Amino acid sequence: MTHSHEFKKLGFIGLGAMGKPMLSHLANKLPEESRIWVYDVVEQMVDDACAEFPGRVLKAKSAKDVAQQVVSLDAIVRKWQLTTCQDTVVSMVPEGAHVRSVYLDPQNGVCSTDISNKLLIDCSTIDTATSLAVKDHVAAEFPSASFYDSPVSGGVVGAIKGTIAFFLGCAESDPNLERLTYLMGLMGGQVIPCGGPSLGLAAKLSNNYLSGIIAIACSEAFDMGMRSGLDPRTLAKVYAAGTAQNTICDKFCPVPHVYPEAPSSGGWKQGFKVQLMRKDFGLAVDMAKRVGSRNVLGDVGLQTYDGAANDPRCRDLDSRVVYRYLGGQEDWQPKSNGA
Ligand code: NAD
Repeated sequence: MTHSHEFKKLGFIGLGAMGKPMLSHLANKLPEESRIWVYDVVEQMVDDACAEFPGRVLKAKSAKDVAQQVVSLDAIVRKWQLTTCQDTVVSMVPEGAHVRSVYLDPQNGVCSTDISNKLLIDCSTIDTATSLAVKDHVAAEFPSASFYDSPVSGGVVGAIKGTIAFFLGCAESDPNLERLTYLMGLMGGQVIPCGGPSLGLAAKLSNNYLSGIIAIACSEAFDMGMRSGLDPRTLAKVYAAGTAQNTICDKFCPVPHVYPEAPSSGGWKQGFKVQLMRKDFGLAVDMAKRVGSRNVLGDVGLQTYDGAANDPRCRDLDSRVVYRYLGGQEDWQPKSNGA
């Protein structure tokens, strides 16, 4: 069953490395009559998106303005008695403080206007407490509106390809699940309902903890093998065939030029910035402490990503640059050219 008719007017807030390609999928895939109002604190991002999809993606002056534009359709919808329509705002901003500002700023936030009946979906990776605070505020002030955490995994490349996974903070029995799944399916691949509010974030943070630890272990394992005389391509085959098989080794190999599409092969320029991994890793370690989970690798992982995020040789590069931070060999490649 299609729900495309329910998304005639949307809002999208945060047009950065992830948000912009996610918006592009919506602009390309929603029905022609759909309109998307966008806002970013960097006005140029808004202007660029509007220029790319003229007449379809429209400029808003603030997060509140985005919500108001979406609300204005609701008046029309009510007039036509199209009661199934539930307009939607999606946000994709860096941190909890930005999410608070987007939704709760008393002058310019989404919740500073009437958002009754709206679906609000925050895809940012933030702490669960902030997400629950926004959800509770929405529930108290606008009981007919619904706020969901729905962080994503798959990186910038996945956002561009439309293959990101969504970890949705809602129960399988949630009445909005089908339309949420439809909308997120336009921007990505899998949509996994994680059980309830903030559990999408809890899932995402534990995933990034695991992924971050694997990248460190992978960097160390490659390095010890290479320093013992092994070609990293041989090591990659061994890991893929053995019990160490994992996606970081296979597709995001920290050693340059083992897997041509890995960020490392392009100088780590494209991918998931090491500062973002530092942020997510820290949020995961905090979460582990809060819920009483024993966590022996947390401190060393945090220290490592903290160091890499503050190292000028690594900062702003893909997080698998942790291989460089740990002193891994980058100049092995001449051997691969038969030299
Ligand atoms: P980004 O910095 O590239 O983009 C964020 C955008 O939000 C920027 O354009 C910024 O100007 C805008 N912004 C900041 N505060 C705002 C506000 N108050 N109102 C409106 N716009 C505001 O970051 P990104 O890489 O797109 O990441 C966004 C979120 O997605 C983060 O929480 C990140 O952890 C998560 N994430 C990123 C990746 C990745 O590979 N980049 C992968 C998965 C998840």
